[in-house]
Amino acid sequence: MEWRGRRESNNIEDRRGTGGGGGFSGGGMRIPIRAGGGGGIGLIIILAVLWIGFGINPLSVIGMDDGTTTTSTQTASRQGPGVSGTSDETDNFVAVVLGDTEDVWNARFSQMGQTYREPTLVLFDRQVASACGNATSASGPFYCPNDQKLYIDLAFFRQLQGQLNSPGDFAQAYVIAHEVGHHVQNLLGTLQRTTELRQQSSETDANAISVRVELQADCYAGIWAHDTQQAGLVQDGDVEEALNAASQIGDDTLQERSQGTVVPDSFTHGTSAQRVEWFRRGLTSGDMKQCDTFQGRL
Ligand SMILES: [Zn+2]
Repeated sequence: MEWRGRRESNNIEDRRGTGGGGGFSGGGMRIPIRAGGGGGIGLIIILAVLWIGFGINPLSVIGMDDGTTTTSTQTASRQGPGVSGTSDETDNFVAVVLGDTEDVWNARFSQMGQTYREPTLVLFDRQVASACGNATSASGPFYCPNDQKLYIDLAFFRQLQGQLNSPGDFAQAYVIAHEVGHHVQNLLGTLQRTTELRQQSSETDANAISVRVELQADCYAGIWAHDTQQAGLVQDGDVEEALNAASQIGDDTLQERSQGTVVPDSFTHGTSAQRVEWFRRGLTSGDMKQCDTFQGRL
C-alpha cells in the first residue's frame, strides 16, 4: 500500500505506557463470565455481552489469548510496518490508514446526504478501559460504540503476521478498516438494531446475528479497499494480503487451528469463505447496497 508521506489522521489517542486505566484486570471479560449467574457480577456480564457482541476481534472467542507467542519464520519481503519497521513507522502507518478511512467515509456519507463523524483510534498496550468495559490485549482490536472509539494494541500486528499467517501492510490496514466498518454500522443505526435483536435471542441465534454484523463490517472494509484502489494507492499483492487475512481469521479456520474441531453454532464472525466473499463483494462492487448481509442466506 502507498502510505509513506500521506496525510495522517489526528484522531489518535495514545494511551500506551499509562498502565491501562485500572479496573479489574486480566482476562475478566472472557467467555466464562457469561456462564456465571447474577448478583454482583451483573454489570460484568452486561459488559461482556456487549463486548463479544460487537465482535470486534477475530480472536476473542477462541483460545488465541493464552499468552503464548509463536516465533514467525516469515521472510521479510511482504511484512507490514508493524512487523519489520520501527514502532514510529507503525504509528505513522496506522495514522495514515485511519486518515484514509476518513477520506473514504467522509465522501461516502456526504454522497448519502449525511455527515460522517470521525472515530478516534486508541493505541494501548496490555490493558485499556473503554466505555464498553475494560479489555486486555488478548481481546484483539475492537470497536466500542458507546464512545465511538477503535482500540488496538499494535502487538496484534505481530500476531497477525505470525500465528495468523497474515503478513503484509494491507492485512493490517484491513483490520483497521474492519473496525471502522463497525463505526459506520454504528452511525447508520445497524449496531443498535442488531444489539436489541441479539438481546431477545437465544445464544445460537445471537451468534448468527453477530456473524451478519461482522460480515457486513468485512464488506465495508472492502468498500474502503475499493475506494483506496480507485485512488491508485493499492499496490500489487495488497488485495491478496487482505483476502488472505480474511480467510485466516474465519471462525472455522481459527477453531480448527486452536481446538481441532469446528462448532458452527458458536461462530460469531463467519467462516473463512464467507469473510473472503463479503470483503470481495465490497471491493469489487464499491456499492454499499451489496453489503446487506441481513437478507437471505450468507
Ligand atoms: Zn468485527
